[in-house]
Amino acid sequence: MPNDLALFPSSETIETEEHRLTEKLHLARSRAASRKVTPPDPSEAWRRELAAFDFTTTGSLDRVTDWALDALEDGIVQMTHPGYLGLFNPAPSFPAEQADRIANAFNPQVCVWSHAPKAVEIEQHVIGQIARRAGLDAGAGGHFTSGGAEANAASLLCALTVKEPDFAERGALAFQGAPTLYASRESHLAWLKIAHCAGIGRAAVRLIDTDGSGRMSAAALETAIQTDLDRGCVPTLVVATAGTTNAGMIDPLTECRALANRHGMWLHVDAAWGGGLIASPDLAAPLRGIETADSITIDAHKWFATTMGAGMFLTPRADVLANVFRVSASYMPESTPAMDFYVNSAQWSRRFVGLRLFLSLATAGWDGHARHVANSIALIDRLCAGAEAAGWRRANASPMAVACLVPPEGHEAVDRHVERVLSSGRFWISRAIFEGRPVLRACVTNGRTSAEDIDALIALLCQPF
Ligand SMILES: *Cc1c(COP(=O)(O)O)cnc(C)c1O
Repeated sequence: MPNDLALFPSSETIETEEHRLTEKLHLARSRAASRKVTPPDPSEAWRRELAAFDFTTTGSLDRVTDWALDALEDGIVQMTHPGYLGLFNPAPSFPAEQADRIANAFNPQVCVWSHAPKAVEIEQHVIGQIARRAGLDAGAGGHFTSGGAEANAASLLCALTVKEPDFAERGALAFQGAPTLYASRESHLAWLKIAHCAGIGRAAVRLIDTDGSGRMSAAALETAIQTDLDRGCVPTLVVATAGTTNAGMIDPLTECRALANRHGMWLHVDAAWGGGLIASPDLAAPLRGIETADSITIDAHKWFATTMGAGMFLTPRADVLANVFRVSASYMPESTPAMDFYVNSAQWSRRFVGLRLFLSLATAGWDGHARHVANSIALIDRLCAGAEAAGWRRANASPMAVACLVPPEGHEAVDRHVERVLSSGRFWISRAIFEGRPVLRACVTNGRTSAEDIDALIALLCQPF
């Protein structure tokens, strides 16, 4: 029986379809800035079209592709729109897009060195360079992940395993008391899911008060650890966020390190977005202390602007990773933890995501990435200056490219402003809570956002109602 030609077309057909898609994508890109940033809800008519795909009848790749492209043109928040001032999701860098195309064509299996030695070594090289740039010693290791949440989860498993070696076999029961972890209440709340998945329960997460400026209070952290010790709990992990999701604030890294040392705890620095600052030696100064972490999360798909999903887990304690994720399977080639990602990380089969960061670093360099972060910070500073001139106030003293703004009329007016900006269709900004009060949040994530875009937003913010 011949193979299905829709699945495995001739090379001539592939060539035609690829050229066609390239042209279609080119057109779609050219429309990026003229679309509405925020999509309408899917219509009933569209849902009927979707339901009609029952997969008993089929259409041409050309037609179905058009249908899917249409869905993306008006059915998503547009990350590639210069007015998307959103949640760290980047407009992807072009080298990262190219890398995806290359990975698609070869589909290498990167879980084991022997199946893709050069692809694995490219990923290891990038991880090593990023780790060095973050200040970790040569020899620090790690791996690419699906995103920050997966990388953060790895840190908890490392912390639990180091604290109680018997955790590997007996799980939470191995502990003399309930294991606990500490993150600020401004941290990324995936920590609750992560504790649930690790089997220590959501109640193990202590959300520590902030200091009034959005940073974890070191005093409150110390008190919480001491209270738990008195109760017989087993403090295992301190999470310092370096670049909070709402406000780009950095927890006190040195104090967190000292407390973790004092109580034999693992220190994880969650720099999922803020880690992008390492590209620029000038701008990275606020991250000082990150180099003392036991592990670090940095997302390539945030400030490094690769396509999603591409996170990174970095650690000077690669031996711990190899212990946490060890396994042996008779059908797998003999494994070497230092070389084989399937025995030192959570995923098994995996995509060659590291090529995205490799291509973008190799073509733009640290300098290019430094310009990208500097430019986004400059644009946010411009937004703040313009808004402040009209009576707005910046609530977050962040060195990063995110602003939490309070309208001249006060916090209660935030919703009104956010709705007006969203309904313009020109910008996507959001309402966030900073130190318990609503703020208008804007973050530059798109390398094509310009000063003119920012000025147009300022004008919109300053219009009388
Ligand atoms: C985005 C983010 C995460 C989660 O990362 P994903 O890539 O979305 O899984 C965790 N922590 C911080 C500080 C983040 O900004």
